[in-house]
Amino acid sequence: MIQAIRQIEAEAQTALASARNEKDIEAVAIRFLGRKGALTGFLRNIAQLPPEERAAAGKQANEAKKSLEAAVKQAKKNLSGKDRPENDTPIDISLPGRRATPGHTHPISQITQEICSILERMGFSVAEGPEVETDYYNFEALNVPKYHPARDMQDTFYISDNIVLRTQTSPMQIRVMEKQSPPVAVIAPGKVFRCDSDLTHTPMFHQVEGLLVDENVSFADLKGTLTAFVHEMFDSDTSLRFRPSFFPFTEPSAEVDILCVMCRGAGCRVCGQSGWLEILGSGMVHPNVFRSVGYDTARYTGFAFGMGVERIAMLKYGIDDIRKFFNNDMRFLRQF
Ligand SMILES: [Zn+2]
Repeated sequence: MIQAIRQIEAEAQTALASARNEKDIEAVAIRFLGRKGALTGFLRNIAQLPPEERAAAGKQANEAKKSLEAAVKQAKKNLSGKDRPENDTPIDISLPGRRATPGHTHPISQITQEICSILERMGFSVAEGPEVETDYYNFEALNVPKYHPARDMQDTFYISDNIVLRTQTSPMQIRVMEKQSPPVAVIAPGKVFRCDSDLTHTPMFHQVEGLLVDENVSFADLKGTLTAFVHEMFDSDTSLRFRPSFFPFTEPSAEVDILCVMCRGAGCRVCGQSGWLEILGSGMVHPNVFRSVGYDTARYTGFAFGMGVERIAMLKYGIDDIRKFFNNDMRFLRQF
């Protein structure tokens, strides 16, 4: 009796060893351990054995069953680690490989680089600084004290009472002037953050800041620099106008509009029928800003400007929804 159980067990082990795939293993399991399997049949018949043989045969059969179940489990595990057998999923080695799709710089990076390269050619150097800023650099040193109503316009993300995500690249004006005496000619590209989201606003966007300080810098220099910039960035015959505006850190201040790129001044939905599109803010640096970095306000004057990179990209490429830049839709991004 015990001899017979041993023989069944040995047969099962041999069958398992030659199993090539999961189907084979399953067949072995059914053949020996299934409801009509050899070992199962044995266990069922134990009751008919003479009483003195029952205990030993039952024990032997149960042990054989357990060890076979373990062997089946192990065989399946071994199989999953190995290469798939050839008759399972064939691999056609003559198929052509998958083509690698090369990436390219994001349209916002492209426009940032273009803006910087135009201004670098005029003599500005590039400075970069922290995106998490102190209240002092983001507001106070820029002539925006705690009580100033202009703080309301900026939808600031506060990290704590004194730490903010910078709402503008202007803090770089202060950081650069603290380290450097005039003459200063820098641009500061980078990410800025405001709690705002719609067709023309995203909570994170990009700005390029510009600052020039020296003796005898006048509004005419500001106008000349920005006119040359606009003519390089857009068409060389693009009309632009300077419109009086207000910023706490410049006085006088002006916003710069270009003739609407869609309707050429006739008036359309994009320009709100005005014929003009605002592209940047600018002005002569406020003496209070110079005072906060210890510059001699009697000797030095300067101008500053700041532009939104997404805004310029939208105008240049005729895009109506700013959020398209950040949805990571390859059909959109591949066009640039
Ligand atoms: Zn228009």
